[in-house]
Amino acid sequence: MKTVNEILKDNNFKFQKNFGQNFITDTNLLKAMVDDAGIESGDIVVEIGPGAGTLTRELSNKASKVFAFEIDKNLEPILAETLKENQNVDVIFKDIQKVKEEELIDIIGTKDFKVVANLPYYITTPIIMRFLEGNILPKSITIMVQKEVAERLCAKENTEEFGAITLAIALEGDAKYLRDVSRKMFTPQPNVDSAIVRIDINDKYKEVDKKAVKKLIHAAFLMRRKTLINNIEAGYKLDKKVLAAVLSGLGYNEKVRGEALSIDDYIKIAKGIDELLVL
Ligand code: SAM
Repeated sequence: MKTVNEILKDNNFKFQKNFGQNFITDTNLLKAMVDDAGIESGDIVVEIGPGAGTLTRELSNKASKVFAFEIDKNLEPILAETLKENQNVDVIFKDIQKVKEEELIDIIGTKDFKVVANLPYYITTPIIMRFLEGNILPKSITIMVQKEVAERLCAKENTEEFGAITLAIALEGDAKYLRDVSRKMFTPQPNVDSAIVRIDINDKYKEVDKKAVKKLIHAAFLMRRKTLINNIEAGYKLDKKVLAAVLSGLGYNEKVRGEALSIDDYIKIAKGIDELLVL
């Protein structure tokens, strides 16, 4: 049996940097990622960017069905060969960013699903947000991303990494930093190390006005060096004295900064501002 590298070579495959094509062939690492994702028999998996199909194969061995979306048509003969034994995989040659939610439902159905991907770096944030904010939410999103991004997704308050994306994720689920992955594991080798993160989606904040919370998060990180109150004042065009009264009424110091507050704090403050706006 040919190795994946031999199959790539025989097909004269040229790695495309603009598609973030850095492939992984280490079976132990791929199996570990499938375990990290908590894939079990009966699971439906959506994979983004199967590449040469190495992760896809491991997913297919555990899950009941894998839908793999790949932008690069040049990978078609390669995937046909590497996945020829894996009958439960459908490869869809489409840019995932252009697949609207209705089309996604048409393809994968309406049953629960999990997202797993060794993500192309250039679309990390849009992909995460798309699957967090859709009308049909996955049970979990397990992604291999640049280490610095992984740190931001899972950051704690009062750290440099903590920011709007950390909070946007916390509003929808729990992010866990699972393992580091050295750049040496990829072909071709990128200039950065990676890490695996799993986001378990929950409906803890189902009753919350998420639009209002997101508006506040957006405003809070407009200028990182400013205090929360100055950022809200600029973002909402509200009187600073009134805002100070809202914050102190909720038990917050007027000088507090956005990066010091948890998602629960944001929810509380967004509600306080909302009440002020309807007065
Ligand atoms: N899963 C493989 C692995 O682990 O070896 C490949 C991962 S590689 C980092 C990213 C893959 O995503 C590439 O195959 C690339 O062509 C594909 N890709 C990039 N942009 C995409 C998009 N917008 N939609 C679907 N696939 C995309």
